[in-house]
Amino acid sequence: MEVISSVEELKSYLKDKGVGFVPTMGALHEGHLSLIKQSVSQNSTTVVSIFVNPTQFLEGEDLDKYPKKTEADLKICELAGVDAVFLPTISDIYRDNELIIKAPTIKGYILEGASRPGHFDGVLQVVLKLFNIVNPKYAYFGKKDAQQLYLIKQMAGDLFLDVEIIPCDIVRDGDGLALSSRNVYLNPQERTKALALSKSLKRAGKLISAGNRDVEKIKSLCLEVLKDVDVEYFEIVDYEFNTIDSIELNNTIVLVAGRVGTTRLIDNIWI
Ligand code: AMP
Repeated sequence: MEVISSVEELKSYLKDKGVGFVPTMGALHEGHLSLIKQSVSQNSTTVVSIFVNPTQFLEGEDLDKYPKKTEADLKICELAGVDAVFLPTISDIYRDNELIIKAPTIKGYILEGASRPGHFDGVLQVVLKLFNIVNPKYAYFGKKDAQQLYLIKQMAGDLFLDVEIIPCDIVRDGDGLALSSRNVYLNPQERTKALALSKSLKRAGKLISAGNRDVEKIKSLCLEVLKDVDVEYFEIVDYEFNTIDSIELNNTIVLVAGRVGTTRLIDNIWI
């Protein structure tokens, strides 16, 4: 497995290869691994990037303490059959006073974008750069970050990028907690409290399976499960992130975000 930090070196290594690409911020877990495995099984060359992208963190967020486990990450990639890991520094990726990508005005600034204004500008900025460096045929993104996935798909379409975005299912711990690099911040009590997020979504799923379609009713019943969580939003949207009054099967996402202690967590289910 190659470990490359220079943009030029990576570009020349990948020239004319049909690449599957998995962008990550490292501290890899089984969620990341499921994306990596999917790429390895579908492409002759798989590239994983590990880059904690500063422009997607807001002032006061956890950029400085974001978990770093580079050695373990490289081992995980190697065992999974990754061909190259791209491990750039900030100065490999960013220049002073550079051109800025803006997320779309509405869908980039609702939900996650309302809680973290500017976050998706930074996400799209770095993903576009990474796409231009790696030039992947397929790029793998988790449904865990549903709004990010939607906006990256939109960017690929709006900017006529030559990449197909592949959505990958959410991987959870046995008790339902969606895997996240940030779960390491949770102490045991907080981890138990954090289960309310996936439980609230499970309740939404059950209510919908039982025939409920009224979004406001479902929201209020699910919020009952979240009383120990500092909820930022619990929303129900369609696959295009439009708000809806009534559930439509195969076109609904239920999303939740909240804080347990100081840790901010997100989760969702696709109906
Ligand atoms: P991150 O390192 O948090 O930026 O995540 C890198 C990629 O892994 C993104 O496409 C995430 O959506 C995806 N991902 C993170 N957690 C999970 C999970 N539990 N299940 C599936 N994909 C995930």
